Amino acid sequence: MALYTQETEKYLKKTSTTILSGVNWDTVHPIGSIVPVSGIYRCEGCGDEITSNKGTEFPPQNTHQHPGSAKTIGWRLIVETQTKG
Ligand SMILES: [Zn+2]
Repeated sequence: MALYTQETEKYLKKTSTTILSGVNWDTVHPIGSIVPVSGIYRCEGCGDEITSNKGTEFPPQNTHQHPGSAKTIGWRLIVETQTKG
């Protein structure tokens, strides 16, 4: 679970599923697909979290593995970063 402190809470803003930004918070992105927005993503299969930058690829299977498990790797956006440019 992503962490923050009382001091850094002011930098986080709760949002509803937003149409304005074009971000689909419910999408689970498969291995190797292109990251749609920069932010923190959580694997639906194991709960691991990663940071990924827009336009790059989500980690390939050889760098994020589920040993001995048939759980599917899929990345869901949990925190969108607001970057300029
Ligand atoms: Zn995982």
